[in-house]
Amino acid sequence: MLTPHYTGRFAPSPTGHLHLGSVYTALASFLEARSHHSLWRLRFDDLDTPRNVAGATTHILQTLETLGLHWDGEVDYQSWHLDDYHAVLADFITSGKIYRCQCSRKNLTDIYAQTCRYQCISPDLPHSLRIKTDDQQIIFDDILQGWISQNLATQHGDFILKRKDNIIAYPFAVVLDDARQAVNHVVRGMDLLNATPKQLYLQHLLHLPAPNYLHVPILVDAKGHKLSKQTLATAVDLTAPNRVLFQLLDWLKQMPPFELQNENVGNVLEWAIQHWNVARLKGVKHIAI
Ligand SMILES: [Zn+2]
Repeated sequence: MLTPHYTGRFAPSPTGHLHLGSVYTALASFLEARSHHSLWRLRFDDLDTPRNVAGATTHILQTLETLGLHWDGEVDYQSWHLDDYHAVLADFITSGKIYRCQCSRKNLTDIYAQTCRYQCISPDLPHSLRIKTDDQQIIFDDILQGWISQNLATQHGDFILKRKDNIIAYPFAVVLDDARQAVNHVVRGMDLLNATPKQLYLQHLLHLPAPNYLHVPILVDAKGHKLSKQTLATAVDLTAPNRVLFQLLDWLKQMPPFELQNENVGNVLEWAIQHWNVARLKGVKHIAI
């Protein structure tokens, strides 16, 4: 029986189809796990319910299967664990680590001025929940991006754990999710690098182990914009899934041999697992396609 020292995961949001940018990250995460003979979990980050799209989970599962990216165990859904997030929030309220905030979300990019930190706001009024941060430096060694050092107070401020519309915020939810799934090796896109210091802070408060982090470059279009649903990136064309994998391996700088594009999905992945060298992406922040 294999006792994995390493568990990875892919955690898409069911907000639409998988586009090339998302399968790029999925493949990197899959290859990191499989080349370490390790588990690869699948979870749907489905808490932002207004953005969820009916049928997206089915489409995503089919896309991963067609590309041969098979996951281990049952698929997990954040929405199954709402009670867990709320239980931690209740503890945080009791211990004074978080506070209610009634401010509007207008200036999301600004550091929050702590306006509501010392006010008494009724739980019956609509409010977000913010965590108290202090002037400390969060430092971590990203496997690809190197040492990252950010100040919690001046670069993040008192950040939101639960939005005013009751949606649990991403950095808080994934801390509990990764712990629940025993994930200790997080591979995801560079666009989430800045969520990491918040997660490390929460893991520290909750006495949870911090996973290793590996942030892969994001794919950008000719104008330098990230491929995303917002930029209307189209669904992956699955008429030739082996060619899709070949293209992704090229963008992952794995230098796949030309003949490989005529091999079937299983053979392409087998080659990719054997030859996987993530260091070729060291320090790369985006890939223009
Ligand atoms: Zn406020």
